[in-house]
Amino acid sequence: MPDGISRRAFLAGTGAALAATSLGAFGFGALESAQAAAIRPFKLTGTIETRNTCPYCAVACGVILYAKPAAETRGKRSIMYIDGDPDHPTNRGTLCPKGAALLNFVGSPDRLTVPRYRAPGAKEFKEVSWDWALDRVARNFKEDRDKNLITTNAGGATVNRWITTGFLAASATTNEAAWLTYKVVRGMGVLAFDNQARV
Ligand code: SF4
Repeated sequence: MPDGISRRAFLAGTGAALAATSLGAFGFGALESAQAAAIRPFKLTGTIETRNTCPYCAVACGVILYAKPAAETRGKRSIMYIDGDPDHPTNRGTLCPKGAALLNFVGSPDRLTVPRYRAPGAKEFKEVSWDWALDRVARNFKEDRDKNLITTNAGGATVNRWITTGFLAASATTNEAAWLTYKVVRGMGVLAFDNQARV
């Protein structure tokens, strides 16, 4: 097989060439040209694949994101196709209609890509930096925990419960990241904790 050509592209190209040559042998020269012009390259050829998890529900189906290399999109890698991950044990390549429409969600102009904050009493949300948002979350965590952590129960046993703050984790994490999140959050004493997907 020639260097730089994938097996799939080679087979597609070989099939097209054989069909065109056969048509040419029967005198269909114009048809041969038309057919050759109509053949499009396989659209996922040359894309970069990234595995991820559908963000919608607790089933946590595996997906593959196909992106065009940055060189083809002026320096910005762009996702152009999303499909179910055939190697994922949960969905084996299938997606429900919601998951199958993920590309619309990724490319939606309404999608939030930066944190927003609405100050107490304010009517509008304003965009804030990630540093500002993370500092604010950390500060609020600390203040609330210092004030409300229950260290012992009525019988004097150590419990270290923190029940005035809850934590919700998202699905696009690996098992390992989810495990670490669980350890950190439970280590702080949070009882109200859930992970959106059962990864
Ligand atoms: S593809 Fe459908 S079933 Fe699977 S996680 Fe997404 S929303 Fe849930």
